[in-house]
Amino acid sequence: MAPAPEAQRGIPPLPFASPPGHDPALQDFLEQASSRLCAWMASAGQRPPLPGLSLMPAVEPAQGAQPADQLLADLQLVMDGAYNPGHPGALAHLDPPALGASIVAELVCAGLNNNLLAEELSPTLTRLERSLMAWLAERLGLPPGSGGVPASGGTLSNLMALVTARRSRNLAACSEAVVLASADAHVSLAKSLAVMGLPAEALQQVPVDATGAMDSAHLERQLQRLAQRGIPVIAVVATAGTTVRGAVDPLPAIATLCRRHGVWLHVDGAIGAVFALSDAHRSRVPGLGQADSLTVNPQKLLGITKTSSLLLLAEPRLLETAFGTGLPYMEPSWGGGHGGEQGIQGTRPAEVLKLWLGLRQLGLDGIEALLDGAVARRRALQELLAAIPGLRLVGGPLHLLAFTPEHGDAAAAERWSLAARQRLLEHDLMLSRPLYRGRHHLKAVLGNPHTGSAELERLAALVAATLPATP
Ligand SMILES: *Cc1c(COP(=O)(O)O)cnc(C)c1O
Repeated sequence: MAPAPEAQRGIPPLPFASPPGHDPALQDFLEQASSRLCAWMASAGQRPPLPGLSLMPAVEPAQGAQPADQLLADLQLVMDGAYNPGHPGALAHLDPPALGASIVAELVCAGLNNNLLAEELSPTLTRLERSLMAWLAERLGLPPGSGGVPASGGTLSNLMALVTARRSRNLAACSEAVVLASADAHVSLAKSLAVMGLPAEALQQVPVDATGAMDSAHLERQLQRLAQRGIPVIAVVATAGTTVRGAVDPLPAIATLCRRHGVWLHVDGAIGAVFALSDAHRSRVPGLGQADSLTVNPQKLLGITKTSSLLLLAEPRLLETAFGTGLPYMEPSWGGGHGGEQGIQGTRPAEVLKLWLGLRQLGLDGIEALLDGAVARRRALQELLAAIPGLRLVGGPLHLLAFTPEHGDAAAAERWSLAARQRLLEHDLMLSRPLYRGRHHLKAVLGNPHTGSAELERLAALVAATLPATP
């Protein structure tokens, strides 16, 4: 530990590692924390996905410093009450268990405590970030020269995309401009428009077809009508993987329309874009590369620890046009631009580290195996549930599947969803309960690599038992 400075003799040493000596207390602290984390992961199967109420540790700092043992005991209480994504029955949300390399990189990221705001605060990490963004953009089909920036979540990626689109079309001062997105698009778009100072009506819904994908013929008519009325369009947002069912909008057709009308195409691929990392799965999200901007959330399926979201652009220099302010208190950039001028966030942790190390640990084969597993589990569950009379399934080409009783009104569907979710939780199976098209559904997200056929069969049997016997 670092000794207290000259002026503060008498005060105990502060808990920073002291250069240049090796700090055995820090090493021991880290090792004990790692042991506890490994024990927590190893016991995932013995705790339910959603734990009950648990004891809270003391919240406020005590007058005196607390020893490592006390801190570890406090941490343990938090761990005991945490959501448990490693349980094989954790199927509710887009929150998979954490990948090993991603955990290690997160720890190292904290220890380095670099800042992606400026190059001199994160020299190697800035370059790593820029290079990985460029690689990912090209791998996902964007043209050479494309790139982008990480963000703390898909909501921020979508917001930055729309701000960049608006700026590139010179519409920043226009209060009439609109954004078009499908009726099943994510709520973060409404939030983005609110932040951008636009009225809620500026988000114009395009209807979806029976598969949950945007109706591109309808989009064409809407674009024509807006053009005739002289109403400018900030962007069309196509979704590659909708949140309830994983539907994919017809990107090639939408891209053609956007080009014809000179409209920015943002693809919200927070769920689906990672499928294009794999040659075997790319065809599930065709046309991603035609986007002007693309949101990708490796945190949602690949096990990269939160947060890991990216905004990728065909012309990444537009980010600096939209967000650059100059950083008068920083040395000039060495050429590639400061991270703090590429987006909304100023100080940013090196989130790239856990993405980079996680992708390296998986390798392209591992990524493909992970996607294979997710799609295979969705198919298996779909087959099991399709055999149950009286159940209506809504899915798509990815790893999400939702279902609701075919019969009964919306209130009956809500009662069923509450009872069925509770019944499943009692058997350590956690699903979510989205309201979709006015009816409550149960939704399974099949990205958890620990889920096996035993869980899926148990799930289907329990669901069947929740339905009234068919006449
Ligand atoms: C989850 C999601 C988002 C938002 O991402 P966050 O990381 O939760 O902010 C945006 N779009 C879609 C389609 C999503 O599923």
